Amino acid sequence: MPELPEVETTVRGLERVLDGRRIARVEVRRPDIRRPLPEDLGQRLTGARVTGLRRRAKYGLIDTDRGDTLVFHLGMSGRWRVDPSKIEKHDHVVLETDDGRRVALNDPRRFGSVDLVDTGELPDWPAFAALGPEPLDISAKQLRDRLKGRNAPIKGLLLDQSVIAGLGNIYVCEALHRSGIRPTRPGGSISLPRLERLATAIQDVLAEAIAAGGSTLRDFASPDGELGYFSKRFAVYDREGKACDCGGTVWRIVQGGRSTFFCPACQR
Ligand SMILES: [Zn+2]
Repeated sequence: MPELPEVETTVRGLERVLDGRRIARVEVRRPDIRRPLPEDLGQRLTGARVTGLRRRAKYGLIDTDRGDTLVFHLGMSGRWRVDPSKIEKHDHVVLETDDGRRVALNDPRRFGSVDLVDTGELPDWPAFAALGPEPLDISAKQLRDRLKGRNAPIKGLLLDQSVIAGLGNIYVCEALHRSGIRPTRPGGSISLPRLERLATAIQDVLAEAIAAGGSTLRDFASPDGELGYFSKRFAVYDREGKACDCGGTVWRIVQGGRSTFFCPACQR
């Protein structure tokens, strides 16, 4: 499943193709992905110039000079293909630029989404209105304010999009491990110095993954270049029973229906 670093890398890859270009042609190849595509998607995008690309939480944003922003979510299996040699069955939306480049949103399982939102109204768009701060910018004090009085385990609170936006299971497990915090600890009981380490760990694990994904960007000039997935190496995630760097053993528990991986020897 694409997490925040994949979305960030996807946005940067699309930026190389789309930023500043006029969208010459839009092909909408089915009426819905997870939910219906905007009926006027082709009409509103065709002829528009792309003025910038951004990410918010796990959404990619493509701004146009018509005051519209295309907002995409990759769901479980979505990816953008750059300059595909041929259009495939699961390419649901295809954009062609005025200089003849093509990008196709491919999503076999169709858990993703595409919306067209008035750029000025984005902060109030329902999916964005309740989002917490961006994990790449969050400070320990912001974390403290949002965790104050919360007795729920820190693991689940970090997955709560209103506490911090766009942080998925993998990076929550990794950041808690790196900051030495046990996932079951009540969120409101963690001291500010430990939250400082947590904020730094969140930023570091994400930045490292983005950098690793960025190294795959050079391949995107080739036909069928696919944006969105890259291999990663984790310290605890999906490593149940394996050795932690501290000499301990990685455990798996289930919290809120999701697997949590942690090391009881170095996470307190
Ligand atoms: Zn350990």
